[in-house]
Amino acid sequence: MNTEHHPTTHGIDCYLCHRTTVELRPYGPRGEWVCFACAFSTPERKAQTEASFSAQINACGDGAVIGEPTGPRPHQRSRS
Ligand SMILES: [Zn+2]
Repeated sequence: MNTEHHPTTHGIDCYLCHRTTVELRPYGPRGEWVCFACAFSTPERKAQTEASFSAQINACGDGAVIGEPTGPRPHQRSRS
């Protein structure tokens, strides 16, 4: 009675466990959609997930923004 789908992964099932009611990420070996639990279920998969994540972030080049690109900066001292 509850057709629960993650909004961004509607109709897609996990490459590994084939559940559709979980949030999926495209971090499988060849960009397959996998769920968070599967992505980190073994050290090998965790390494693969992190490698895929890095590759996709790098592919974005300067367009990838995680937080503020400039970051926090020291408050400028006012001259007196
Ligand atoms: Zn899964």
